[in-house]
Amino acid sequence: MYVKPSLGLSLFASRQPIMAGNWKLNPSTVNEAIGLASGFTTLLDDSVCSLDEEESSCTEVVCFPPFPFISDVSAVLGEFGVSIGAQSVFFQDKGAFTGAVSASMLKSVGCSYVLCGHSERRSVFMDDDKKINKKVKKVLDLGMRPVLCIGETKEEYDMNCCQEVCALQLAKDLQGITRKEAGRLVIAYEPVWAIGTGLVCEAAEAQKVHVFIRSFLAKMFGDEVAESIRIQYGGSVTPDSVDSLMAQPDIDGCLVGGASLVAEKFARICNYERL
Ligand code: PEP
Repeated sequence: MYVKPSLGLSLFASRQPIMAGNWKLNPSTVNEAIGLASGFTTLLDDSVCSLDEEESSCTEVVCFPPFPFISDVSAVLGEFGVSIGAQSVFFQDKGAFTGAVSASMLKSVGCSYVLCGHSERRSVFMDDDKKINKKVKKVLDLGMRPVLCIGETKEEYDMNCCQEVCALQLAKDLQGITRKEAGRLVIAYEPVWAIGTGLVCEAAEAQKVHVFIRSFLAKMFGDEVAESIRIQYGGSVTPDSVDSLMAQPDIDGCLVGGASLVAEKFARICNYERL
C-alpha cells in the first residue's frame, strides 16, 4: 500500500494521493472534451487507480469538466477508474433559480466530487464564505466530496497574511461540519497569485502552508481526522514542478488548471515520480 507520510502525527497518516484537472470554461465542444478525456486516460500508468484496484494503493484522478460535458466525459473516464466532478453547485435543491445546478443533479450524472470556493468563483461569481459553506454542506449531505479551495491573493501574500486568510476561510467555509463529515473533505491550497500565472509556489513554501492548514484542521476536527484529510496544492502546476511538490510530506495531490487541458501534460502530472 502506498502511504503518504506526514510530518507530525505520522501515526495516523495513510492518505491516498489525489490529482485533479479543472477544465474551467474549456474546451468549446463536447467532441473536444471527449477527445481530451480519451487522450490523457490512455497515457496514465499503473500507479493510477484502475477499476479493480484497492483504493489506497494507487493515485486517485478526478476530472472537472464544464457541466454540459459531465455525462459524456464520465463515460470515457469510467473505463479507466478516473472519477468525475463538477466545478460548482448551487446549494438549493429545486425551485425558481434559473441557470442553477443542484447537488442531486450532479450526483445523478455520476459526480463524486464538487469544487467549492475556487478563487474564480469567489472573485468573478461573488461566491462568499457563507454561500461556500452552504455548498460544502449540501455536497456532503448528498454523499459526495467537496474539494474546498482556499488561498491568499497577491496583496495578502505581500502583507504576509497567508495563514490568517487560510484560517479564516477554513473556519467560515467549514462551519458546522461534523468530524465524520470532515473525513470526506479534500482541501486545495491555491495561492491566488499562482493560479494561471505561471508562478508556482516553491514546494518547501507550499509544504509549510499545508502543515499550517493541517494544524488548523486538527483544531477544528481533532488530530486523527486532520491527518486523514487530503490537501492538494494548486497554482500553475506543470510536469516540471509536480515531482518536487509531491515529494513534500503534506502535499497529497495537485489541482491543475491549464496543464490539465493538454493530455500529455496532465498524464505526466498524474504519473508523477514517486520517491
Ligand atoms: C486552478 O484552476 O485551480 C488552477 C490551479 O489553475 P492553473 O493550474 O492554470 O494555475
